[in-house]
Amino acid sequence: MTSSDDQAVLARLQSVRALVVATHEKPDGDAVGSAAGLVRICRCRGIRAELWLPEPVPLRYRSFLEAVAPVRTLSASALAEFDALVLLDCARPERAALGPEWTLAQLPLPVINIDHHLDNSVSAAVSWVAERAATAMMVYELAATAGWTLTPEAATLLLLGLVTDTGSFRFSNTTPEAFRAAAALLEAGADQERVVNAVYFSKPRNQQEFETELLSRCLRRGAGGSYLYAVMPEELFARHHFDMRDGEGVIDLLREVEGVVIAGLFYARGAWTKVSLRSKDARFPVGPLVRKFGGGGHPMAAGVTLELPPEEAAAVIGGEVEKLLGGVSGEEGKHEISSR
Ligand code: AMP
Ligand code: MN
Ligand code: MN
Repeated sequence: MTSSDDQAVLARLQSVRALVVATHEKPDGDAVGSAAGLVRICRCRGIRAELWLPEPVPLRYRSFLEAVAPVRTLSASALAEFDALVLLDCARPERAALGPEWTLAQLPLPVINIDHHLDNSVSAAVSWVAERAATAMMVYELAATAGWTLTPEAATLLLLGLVTDTGSFRFSNTTPEAFRAAAALLEAGADQERVVNAVYFSKPRNQQEFETELLSRCLRRGAGGSYLYAVMPEELFARHHFDMRDGEGVIDLLREVEGVVIAGLFYARGAWTKVSLRSKDARFPVGPLVRKFGGGGHPMAAGVTLELPPEEAAAVIGGEVEKLLGGVSGEEGKHEISSR
């Protein structure tokens, strides 16, 4: 477990003049929002800050990065111009998105690690790992503690992270502090309408068609109905020209169904299978389940990549989910969910 020290992280951030900011591969809304938000805050303080994003971000987030102008690659000589790299929202060193040329261990820079995944295993010069709804919320707290100016643009980016990681304040990580942070971001001028329109009301037609076919043809049930999952075949993606990079939220189409306690998605990534799991009952957390297989994440939202074909991965994980949900089944499960 990484040590956790917000004061040490703050002191480092206050002592640097030039920073590179990076996040995890397959960036999500919190990765984009926390990283771009920190870049904008730093630039406002007169610090040179660059956002290092080797991969394209999901379509719905692209417009948020226009003014930030992320860099795709950084050479050793370019990196030498910076005092530190801030790594945000990235729980594992191997998931850091630094492009094919770099690993975290090789970087010629001290790492400042800020993350809300409690299983964070990144070794860094200074680390702050804490239970928060989003990494963007931690960036907000640093700014508030230090008295850094939050422009409306920076506040919008941090709100993007907070909104996406809480599923718009629906998930169990939505604490009173998360609402307070959101309120402060709105007071700082965050454009909530822009965030919500981008995240929830901008679904491309091909994604809607992909999801329609997924829901009508790929759903399977286990554990007496309390486990709903889908094994998504390659041809489903091909037919709709859809990439799971843009699929943050697809799993919620399964999670939102009545009586479902655990939702799962399985799809091939080369010879491996990417597994995403969500739980909506704290008695049945999916974090410990995937950790048995080397995965990680949060108690209620976790993932793992298994070196198995999708059907075999679904069988292995399904067995564990059945064991976990042993006590919940059918009508009983529905009743317990609806009475919470
Ligand atoms: P996802 O299901 O990909 O949206 O991820 C849900 C959570 O699980 C996120 O917090 C991820 O950081 C974490 N996670 C996903 N895949 C992995 C993996 N292969 N190893 C470790 N953590 C993962
Ligand atoms: Mn993330
Ligand atoms: Mn996050």
